[in-house]
Parts: sequence; structure tokens; C-alpha cells
Amino acid sequence: MKRHCNLAFFIPHLGCPNQCSFCDQRAISGAAKAPAPEEIAESCREYLASGGDGQNTEIAFFGGSFTAIPREQMLAYLKAVQPFLGEGGLSGIRISTRPDAVPEEILCILKEYGVTAVELGAQSMSDRVLEMNQRGHTAQDVREAAVCIRRQGFSLGLQMMYGLYGSTPEEERRTLEDCIALRPDTMRLYPTVILEGTCLAERYRSGRYVLPSWEEMLDFAAMAMGRLREEGIRLIRCGLHVEQDLEKRMIAGFYHPALRELAESRLYFKAMICWMEKYAAEYRAFSQNGHGHTRYSFIVETAKGCAGKAAGHKGENRRRLCERELFQNHLSAECRMKIREVPDLAEGQLRMYMQQLVSGPDGRTIIRIGEEVYDVFKIT
Ligand code: SF4
Repeated sequence: MKRHCNLAFFIPHLGCPNQCSFCDQRAISGAAKAPAPEEIAESCREYLASGGDGQNTEIAFFGGSFTAIPREQMLAYLKAVQPFLGEGGLSGIRISTRPDAVPEEILCILKEYGVTAVELGAQSMSDRVLEMNQRGHTAQDVREAAVCIRRQGFSLGLQMMYGLYGSTPEEERRTLEDCIALRPDTMRLYPTVILEGTCLAERYRSGRYVLPSWEEMLDFAAMAMGRLREEGIRLIRCGLHVEQDLEKRMIAGFYHPALRELAESRLYFKAMICWMEKYAAEYRAFSQNGHGHTRYSFIVETAKGCAGKAAGHKGENRRRLCERELFQNHLSAECRMKIREVPDLAEGQLRMYMQQLVSGPDGRTIIRIGEEVYDVFKIT
């Protein structure tokens, strides 16, 4: 299957009347410049002329409030890209916007201009959290907008933030489940990043806003990945895009170039812990019995391209496993952990066992003990 991609344009909502706690639109309003419709048309032309895979590429107007910008500006963008849609062109248009900015009338316009996917910045499904972060809309707005978007035949995307001011672990889980209940085709998970010049920055500096820990965030993101996969909803983004400018503007929060991989490798770690809990007794007996003529290893197998996720970022999973009481004094000295990729496993599968190499009069025999295959996305 060919990889889907976006030809993305960031359309800032300059002069936005809202004041969401995490948004630095006002602080950067002098520096942020909306691209001209002609520039966007030129980029589309260049993309197709250079052999870009139009049929698997959508034009994406991001920035969070596409339908809330002045009407003429929105129409100018939509008109500018019309020559590049359809046969031999790009596959459609994707926009992101606020849940309270998609009345039926706007959706009709979007349809007319070939918009295929509408993403809503839901952020939270707790009215209390939405209010504490000055979002200016309610969870009911998200529900109603989602229903209209689906009814009009658009692909529905929902964006959720994690770790907003005032949000509790229970509200994070509820938000995820409420989003799932709206049956989006795609979701994006954005753990909060605190930008200079925002209300969150002030609250953070004064100690009123305390971020959850990275551990909590990664556990949540890993759980969300599993839930969304289970529900057949594609998680198309986890964490903000890498952007040098953003790195300069942020003062704290969850920003990492490989945030999704960090969360995914946590799922692999959880599977390893499951195995350890199940086979602790066997492992102890195995590693403490003084196998004079045997060599043994702890084997972790993954699909092609997934060994790094099992090992964890900079070998973190391996290190954390070795720190476990069960493995201390054994793993590094006698029992070696091997992580390898094998052809018979699919992405997300993890096979684990202890392998013993027994030398006898008839040569060497390999014995596998405690062999298990896990679907890491189903580990809770
Ligand atoms: S995030 Fe909030 S404040 Fe920022 S542009 Fe969007 S609606 Fe306006």
C-alpha cells in the first residue's frame, strides 16, 4: 500500500478572537505570515511537475482554524488549489478547524470545493478543562460538529491534547473514549507543549500549572495507541511536528522528535514485563541452577524494522529490564538478552523465550523455554 502524505500549508489565524491557554498566536502574530494563495498554487504545481504522487497526496490547510479565518481568505485558498485536484492531480483537501466553526453552511462550501477530510481540534471532552483553558467551545460542540461532518461524507479527524491545565488522568481517559465514540477515521494526539507568551507559560512559571511526568504521558500515549488500533482508528500523529522555531518558543512540555516511537516502545516494554511476570519462576530456576555445560539467552524477536522499538530509545527498555530485580546479577553476567528481527512476525508482534544451548555427547541442542507471542497493541 502506498504511503499517504500531505502537501501541508500552515494558515495562521491572525487576529483570532479566542485566547486558548496553550496558543501563542498573539505572541507570534508579527512573525507568522499566511502564505498567499498564489504561493500555494505554485507549490502544488511544482509538486506535481516534480513527479509527486498526487493520487496519494492531499493538500492540507493546517493551523487549527481554517474555517474561522475571514471568508474571502478561505475561499481564495480553496479556489487557488482547484486546478490541481482530480484526474492526474492531488487526491483531495484536508483542513483542520475549531469545533464551533463548522456550521452546515460552511460544510457545504467545503464540499463544493473538494475538501475530503475535516479535522476538529477537540483538545478535551471535559467542559471543565475546556473552560479552564479558555477554548471557547464545549464538548457538545465537538459532538455536534463530528456528527455533521460524518453526515456530509467527509473523513472525520479528531485532535486531542494531553496534559492540559486542570486535566486529571480520569478526564484524559474519558476524552479519549469520548473521541473514539464519535467514530473518527483518524486521530492526532498532542501532549501539551508550553510556549513562551501563552497563558500556560504564566501559570507554569507561577507554579499553578504542573505538567504530568513524561512517564505518565508515555503510559497514556501507549494506552491510546492500543485503544485506537483496537477500534480501527488511525493515529496519524503523536506529538508536535519537529520545527526549529518551535524549539525556540517552547519553555517546557512534551516535545521530542521521536515521541511516537517512545510511546510505541513502551508497549513493547509492557509486553516484556508480562512475559517476565509469567515466567519469573522458570527464569529464576533456569538462571540459578548453575548450568555447567549450558549457555542460555533471553530472546526477544520482532517483525522487520521493529527491533529498535523493542530495545527502546537509546536502549532504554533493555536498561530498564536489566534493572528489574529478577534480572539483576543475571542478565549482564550470565544470561544475554538478544533482540532480533525475524520474518514470520507482523508489526506489533513480539516473541519471547529463554533459549538454552545444551552440549551433550551428540552435539549441541537448542531448547526454547517459555515461548510466547504478544500483540503489543493489546497489552493493557
Ligand atoms: S488555538 Fe485558539 S487562540 Fe489559537 S488560533 Fe486557534 S482558536 Fe485562536
